[in-house]
Amino acid sequence: MIDPMIADCDFDTYTKMIADFTNTDLIPTENEMVEAGEVPARILDSMAALGLFGISIPRAYGGLELTMEQQVGLTFEFTRASCVYRSRFSTVIGLCSQAILEHGTEAQRRRLLPAMAAGELVTAFALTEEAAGSDAAHLRTTARREGDVYVLNGGKRYITNAAWADAFVVFARTDDSDPGAGGISAFVVDASTPGITTALPSMMNGHAEAPVAEIRFDDVEVPCTDLLGGSEGSGLTMALRGINHARLHVAATCVGQATRMLEETVAHVTRRQQFGGPLADLGAVQATLGASFAEMEAARALVVQSAREFDRGAIPRHRIAAAKLYSSEMASRVADRCVQLLGGEGIVGPNPVPRMWRDVRALRIYEGSSPVHERNLAKAMIRQVTIDGTLPDSFRA
Ligand SMILES: Cc1cc2nc3c(=O)[nH]c(=O)nc-3n(C[C@H](O)[C@H](O)[C@H](O)COP(=O)(O)OP(=O)(O)OC[C@H]3O[C@@H](n4cnc5c(N)ncnc54)[C@H](O)[C@@H]3O)c2cc1C
Repeated sequence: MIDPMIADCDFDTYTKMIADFTNTDLIPTENEMVEAGEVPARILDSMAALGLFGISIPRAYGGLELTMEQQVGLTFEFTRASCVYRSRFSTVIGLCSQAILEHGTEAQRRRLLPAMAAGELVTAFALTEEAAGSDAAHLRTTARREGDVYVLNGGKRYITNAAWADAFVVFARTDDSDPGAGGISAFVVDASTPGITTALPSMMNGHAEAPVAEIRFDDVEVPCTDLLGGSEGSGLTMALRGINHARLHVAATCVGQATRMLEETVAHVTRRQQFGGPLADLGAVQATLGASFAEMEAARALVVQSAREFDRGAIPRHRIAAAKLYSSEMASRVADRCVQLLGGEGIVGPNPVPRMWRDVRALRIYEGSSPVHERNLAKAMIRQVTIDGTLPDSFRA
C-alpha cells in the first residue's frame, strides 16, 4: 500500500525521497540481492510504500499520476541502482497498466489499477513466444471462444515477473483466418487459473535477480469479461500502447545506469595510481570519460524531449524508438569503457560496474532490439519523405 503521505508530496520532495532511498537502501542492498538471487522482500515492501508501482497510474485509480517527464526524471534517480529493482515494477507501471488504462473497460480499470498501483497485484506482460519474438504479430497462442469463456492454448517465453505475477496480460490469436496483427486480442488472466504453468530458466546472463519465465497455457478457461476492452482484434495496438510507455522508461534506465557506472569509474581512476599519479591524470582516460559523459547527456536530452512531447498528447513513437535505440547503445558503450578503465577490477572482485555491464546488455534486446528499431525508423523515414518530404515526428511538422 502507498504511504498516504506520499500522495501529498510535491514532486521535488518526492524525487529527493526516491534519490535518498536509492542511496541508503537500493545501492547498499545490491550485494545482498545478488547473493540471495532475488530482490529482498523488505525492499519490495518499501518500493510499494513509496508508490513506485503507481507512478504512471492516475489518482482516480489510486496512483500518483506523474507526468511522463516526471516519470523519466524519477527513473534517472532510482536506476543509479541495479536495473533489476526496476524490473520488479516495470511490467506494472509501463507495459500492463498503460494498456489497461487506455484500452480496458471502466470495470476492468476499477478492478485492476488500484491494486496494481499499491503493489498488491503484480502483472506480467505475456507477448513473446518461441516462434514470435521480434515478429510478435505472428504469435501462435490461441484463444477460442466457447460460450462465456475463451479457452487459451500455447506458450510464452522470456516473460519478466511471470514466476510471481498475480495476473498476466496475455496476447492470443482469436481469429485464425487472420495470421497477422488483426487476429490478435488481449486478455487479463488470473495467474492461478487451472492449466497455467510457469518455469524459470536454468540460468540468466544478466538480470539474474529478476529472471524471466516461460508460461504454458493448456486449455485455460478465461471469462469473456477478461477480454481486454471487451472487443477482439486490437490486441497488438493495446500491446504497443504499453510498449511505447515502457520503451521510454527503458531509455531513461540507460541514463541512470550510465550515471552510476561513470560515478564508480571516476572514483576508481581518481584513486588508482599508475605511472606516478592517478589514472585520472592521463589524457586518454579523460578523453574516454568526457566522451562518455557527452553521450549520456545526449541520451538524457532525447529522453526528456520525448517525454515532453508524450505529455503534450500524441505519443511520438519514432522519437521514443530513437531514444531507446540511442540510450541503450550508449549504456553498453559506456559500460564497456568503464570496465576497461577498471582494469582487472572490471573482471575480478565485487565492483558493481561489471555486473551492470552485463545487465545493460539486455536493454539492447528487449522493448525492441536495436536492429529492429533501426529498420523501423528507416522504413518510417522512407515512407514519410515519399508522402510529404518531412521526417517522422519532425520538429518542423
Ligand atoms: C531480460 C528480458 C526480459 C524480457 N521481458 C519480456 C516481457 O516481459 N514480455 C515479453 O513479452 N517479452 C519479453 N522479453 C522478450 C523480448 O521482447 C524479445 O527477446 C525480443 O523481442 C527479441 O525477440 P527474440 O529474443 O525472439 O529474438 P529474435 O526475434 O529471434 O531476434 C534475434 C536478433 O535478430 C535480429 N533481428 C530480428 N529481426 C530483425 C529485423 N527485422 N531486422 C534486423 N534485425 C533483426 C536482431 O539482432 C535481434 O536481436 C524479454 C527479453 C529479455 C532478454
